[in-house]
Amino acid sequence: MGYINGQWVSARSGKEFAVVDPASGDTLTSVPNMGAQDAEHAIEAAHRALPRWKAVPAKDRSILLRAWHDQILAHSDVLARQITAEQGKPFAEAKAEVMYGASFVEWFAEEAKRVYGDVIPSPVPGRKLLVYKEPIGVAVAVTPWNFPLAMITRKCAAALAAGCTVIVKPAESTPLTALLLADLAHKVGFPAGVFNVVVGDKDAAQEIGRAFCDDPRVRKISFTGSTEVGRILLRQSASTVKKLSLELGGNAPFIVFDDADIDAAVEGAMVSKYRNAGQTCVCANRIYVQEGIYDIFAEKLAKSVAELRVGRGADPGIEVGPLIEEESLGKVESHVADAVQKGASVLTGGRRHVLGGRFYEPTVLTNVTPEMLISREETFGPVAPLFRFRSEAQALQMANDTEFGLAAYVYSRDIGRIFRVVDAIESGMVAVNTGAFSNEVAPFGGVKQSGLGREGSKYGIDEYLEIKYVTLAGL
Ligand code: ADP
Repeated sequence: MGYINGQWVSARSGKEFAVVDPASGDTLTSVPNMGAQDAEHAIEAAHRALPRWKAVPAKDRSILLRAWHDQILAHSDVLARQITAEQGKPFAEAKAEVMYGASFVEWFAEEAKRVYGDVIPSPVPGRKLLVYKEPIGVAVAVTPWNFPLAMITRKCAAALAAGCTVIVKPAESTPLTALLLADLAHKVGFPAGVFNVVVGDKDAAQEIGRAFCDDPRVRKISFTGSTEVGRILLRQSASTVKKLSLELGGNAPFIVFDDADIDAAVEGAMVSKYRNAGQTCVCANRIYVQEGIYDIFAEKLAKSVAELRVGRGADPGIEVGPLIEEESLGKVESHVADAVQKGASVLTGGRRHVLGGRFYEPTVLTNVTPEMLISREETFGPVAPLFRFRSEAQALQMANDTEFGLAAYVYSRDIGRIFRVVDAIESGMVAVNTGAFSNEVAPFGGVKQSGLGREGSKYGIDEYLEIKYVTLAGL
């Protein structure tokens, strides 16, 4: 069922589509295949709920968000199992996603109470100049499958805290976690129409997306997904001049200098590259290693990678699950084949896994060069391509030679070098000497064609607020 206006609803068309377990290829269940009419229904509900929701005192919105957070934690195992079932990531990672996702709800429950305005000293006598912040209006969250829970809470908690009503359109591969979140939101008592979920398959996504973009009542779209779809939403939103937040593709560079702690760099690369089987937008996509430590780094990394346990995410001790769909394997295979054909060597992995289905061997490639496909496109799979570099300038040149700019990783123990690289690197986020950096208190987002806006942190709520300036004269 979809969730619109506080009710569980079918698609107007009566159609459904199957949700599949990527580990087995089995159908888990079917959900409504909604379309433009259902999107319209959700917009209507969210629009109608808006005046009352934004008039709810921030403290009361905060209490509801806090209750939602507590429910998410109380159901963390159920949610994690659902994430693993429809997305494939190992249960421990799914559990970590639930905690990460919940942290945004807690954070924005707190931030809801801290949306302050300003009083500006007037340049002319007898006036008061005031600045208010108001919720922008109906907000839409279009979310991806790689974090079926956290990408929803990161957007919706901020929107709800700001006083917006929201409509979520989860990815077609992972609608079930979104519906569980809706169930919990329903239980804690968000008023009807404040939180809505519209579900549909890949084709329906286009129609639903178009309906959101065309409707002037939708004032905000927050999207996480491919750069290609981000561009479509940006273009389609031009006619109604909406505010957009976009979290798009990454292609993250991971630079290891000669002076780095090699073991720490290997550990960081493992975390950054193989988490979620390489399917995150901040996964290290291009690993640049300075020539003095290249061979030893490659050897140590390959040893750790060869030990990764691949299998069904629901089984204990599994570290790498399946890829989300057959198409994803095709992309990984084409990147590896192209690299090998242009002179790269396979140090470990390099093939579909013996488990079959959507499993691919965790892979390390050496002698990778900028001419290869893998250096320009996000692989979104468990493949670490190692590039060799000589100088800092060369590493920076290669790292910045991309249209993307989301995350970058740097390993060095030279404080001067660290600051030079941090200054020169073109990305929204830089992780120095660590492979993991994302949390609710820090601003997540990219530069260049990796996106617009920031999520999480004290900045995240601004994406859902408008400034109103008021002059008081005749006092
Ligand atoms: P990915 O490459 O991660 O699958 P996509 O960008 O294809 O990312 O999908 C991210 C989200 O965008 C999903 O919820 C998907 O259904 C949705 N989507 C895909 N195409 C469109 C579109 N034309 N308009 C609106 N949403 C879309």
